[in-house]
Amino acid sequence: MLALQGAFARHVDVLRRCGAEAFEVRRADELAALDALVIPGGESTTMIKLMTSFDLVDPLAKLLADGVPVFGTCAGMILLGADVSDGQPDQLCFGAIDIGVRRNGYGRQIDSFEADLTVAGVDGGPITGVFIRAPVVERTGPDVEVLASFEGDPVLCRQGPVLVSSFHPELTDDDRLHRLFLGSVGA
Ligand code: GLN
Repeated sequence: MLALQGAFARHVDVLRRCGAEAFEVRRADELAALDALVIPGGESTTMIKLMTSFDLVDPLAKLLADGVPVFGTCAGMILLGADVSDGQPDQLCFGAIDIGVRRNGYGRQIDSFEADLTVAGVDGGPITGVFIRAPVVERTGPDVEVLASFEGDPVLCRQGPVLVSSFHPELTDDDRLHRLFLGSVGA
């Protein structure tokens, strides 16, 4: 669990409940121990600053290039995308999944909302998506699978080992998306 900033604590709880040995990582030397990585929601620009000052940008890029499974939620999605609009002039993104996102595309904090989402490949009825200053996915490349959409826009996407959601799956008691992600680890 990348634990530089943001909503990482609840993710750790959910991952442990699902049986994963979840631990927080903040330093490059801690990355060697992981089989999969979750990048939480929070504030992508702050995370970038912290990644830069913790010398994590290159080690994380290498981890992604090596094909380690990664789940990015909200700000995590922004960081993993290929292009970002309404970002900072120097907004870094890893390009691990071929999507274009617009930061805060669903509005400000006060515009936060919940929506029921039907997720391809997940049984048991819709999942509640909690959207908080969430990014809108404006473009998906040909290799991107859209697993869920809201009002016509993708909100849950996968490309190979990379899963991203524009919402916060750790904020409900429903752990089906974490289980979906963990199911891809070691596959
Ligand atoms: N708007 C935030 C950003 O740009 C993301 C919000 C979130 O992660 N809940 O990073």
